[in-house]
Amino acid sequence: MPQRASTLRLCNVVGPDTEELKPYVRCPRRDETINALTCTGCSRMRSMEWAPRKGGVVICSVEEPEPTTDPRADLAEAAARVLLHEVLTPVTTCVTPDVSIEQLRRLMANEGLRSVPVVDLEGKLQGLVSRTDLTTAADFGLVENMMTSRVHALPEDAPVAYAIALMAFENVSEVPVVTADGTVAGMYHALDALRWVAGKMGYVNPMKKVATNDGEPAVES
Ligand code: SF4
Repeated sequence: MPQRASTLRLCNVVGPDTEELKPYVRCPRRDETINALTCTGCSRMRSMEWAPRKGGVVICSVEEPEPTTDPRADLAEAAARVLLHEVLTPVTTCVTPDVSIEQLRRLMANEGLRSVPVVDLEGKLQGLVSRTDLTTAADFGLVENMMTSRVHALPEDAPVAYAIALMAFENVSEVPVVTADGTVAGMYHALDALRWVAGKMGYVNPMKKVATNDGEPAVES
């Protein structure tokens, strides 16, 4: 039976005193994102490996072969066909609403993040905080009091074209991507879109992105 390699994505949910790494994978059989820990009980799993700052991969036996992209597809056609869950970066840092603004400031500075999704304990999207929000926020209080609650999010099954169009129309530089039940699957940044477009045009990006919702690539040495 053919084998399929699926990206294992990590959502690092930071709370006031806790930090929980939630592993997700897009299951090729169910065609939805699931908790990757459930794969350990699946007879189709062949291997699973991941590292905290990099994400990982699940290899499983499936009937369908790996889909291939027609190299002759033009840019618009490819953007309409490639789905966000196929291009998301593997690690996302999130915070819970009860994290202090001071803690969030430190986290964003230490990790070089431009924006951070705010999630509940189940990882479901509650809001978003950007660097710009922080510049006008008080030095005290909780994230829940200053986050943007009305967020332009997209489902992980939306095509890349939707994300590009949404960011251009709404004048935002990133968009949270969520699963069917509202769990944060990742962040898609304008720079991710630019790199994707450059790659489709045949340009090589020598920088491999390993951290996520920053838009600034962390370069693997
Ligand atoms: S191991 Fe099983 S549950 Fe996990 S992604 Fe593969 S088919 Fe889905």
